[in-house]
Amino acid sequence: MQNFSFHNPTKILFGEGRIADIGAEIPAGARVLITYGGGSVVKTGTLAEVKSALAGFTVFEFAGIEPNPTYETLMQAVELARREKIDFLLAVGGGSVIDGTKFIAAAIPFVGDPWDILARRAPITSAVPFGSVLTLPATGSEMNNGAVITKKATQDKLAFANPLLYPRFSVLDPAKTLTLPPRQVANGVVDAFVHIVEQYLTYPADAAVQDRFAEGLLLTLIAEGPRALAEPDNLAVRANLMWTATLALNGLIGAGVPQDWATHMLGHEITVLYGVDHAQTLAIVLPAMLQVRREEKRAKLLQYAERVWNLRDGDEEARIDAAIAHTRAFFESLSVPTRLSDYGIGADAVAALVAQLERHGMKKLGERRDFGLDGSRRVYELAA
Ligand code: NAP
Ligand code: FE
Repeated sequence: MQNFSFHNPTKILFGEGRIADIGAEIPAGARVLITYGGGSVVKTGTLAEVKSALAGFTVFEFAGIEPNPTYETLMQAVELARREKIDFLLAVGGGSVIDGTKFIAAAIPFVGDPWDILARRAPITSAVPFGSVLTLPATGSEMNNGAVITKKATQDKLAFANPLLYPRFSVLDPAKTLTLPPRQVANGVVDAFVHIVEQYLTYPADAAVQDRFAEGLLLTLIAEGPRALAEPDNLAVRANLMWTATLALNGLIGAGVPQDWATHMLGHEITVLYGVDHAQTLAIVLPAMLQVRREEKRAKLLQYAERVWNLRDGDEEARIDAAIAHTRAFFESLSVPTRLSDYGIGADAVAALVAQLERHGMKKLGERRDFGLDGSRRVYELAA
């Protein structure tokens, strides 16, 4: 196991009705800006519930944070927050709203163009505190300090992270996820699955406890993901999915182990060029990625085959092939297609995708930082 520091300060308020408790988590007298997306929280009543829990605070609203939140939209919220002297942000929505709110939180006090935080890794020395009310279990953004932001003008989708950007609290009320369309339920399962894989399917690191946590979370997704689609009113299933997605990327299973993230980086370029949902890009990239990198990942692929998919027959090559096939079949069983062509994207896209990676400096990816553009090209070609 590698050395690590682990400090996750986000307070989780889990369960039905917990929105009612958020007032106690926000400093008295705060001027609060509620941020949300395209209106699902208006339709579902979640926004009204949040506002009634904030009676007594001065509350402002910023609507319209889109899936794959953009710098262009978020800067409008930054202007509003500066003008109204906002001192607490409250994100109500999925990963896009929470990620976008992290950018807003860092951008409000930032001197200069806040895009530099992403493009030039400009240091963040302060951030406006914020909380979240999660409506879509998927990204783990509700309990981590990272965010992914898109600049439309230049077709960049870039990630950043900072210790100042953990939510102060996050409400995880599984009942709020019952209104999700099946596509977003499935996306959430796939995104959480791939987050776990990025921290587990690397090379052995003598991290028995992290491995068992990761395998337990993967097995939970394999069991509960299909049930969430088949039994859309089952609140117990939603509760398990919600907590699994949070634990998949809150730092716990990733502490002390190598981490990959190449699948995410290749996926971001597909989203920014072709508008494919984040989780769909991961379903496209991951099976091809595992195939291309089967030698470096051999030991963990065999462990994954046995412990997650119960594959014990045949020689090593056959078991690895079967593990990759099971992974693909799992995504397909959730109605998340796994080839670029399924989304109307032809093999001619490969050159453009590789050029994007090159432009973004993604030339040394993977757990050993040695996965270059040739490898990425092979992954995209195989995924076509
Ligand atoms: P999302 O983009 O936040 O939301 C997708 C859609 O679901 C939106 O149209 C939203 O509608 C709708 N929705 C959300 N909650 C709903 C509910 N309860 N009922 C009905 N509809 C609902 O999806 P996401 O998968 O959570 O976030 C994806 C983003 O997170 C990507 O940009 C990805 O790159 C990023 N990401 C971040 C991390 C991280 O660690 N920070 C990790 C992985 C991915 P409205 O807009 O109308 O609300
Ligand atoms: Fe993700």
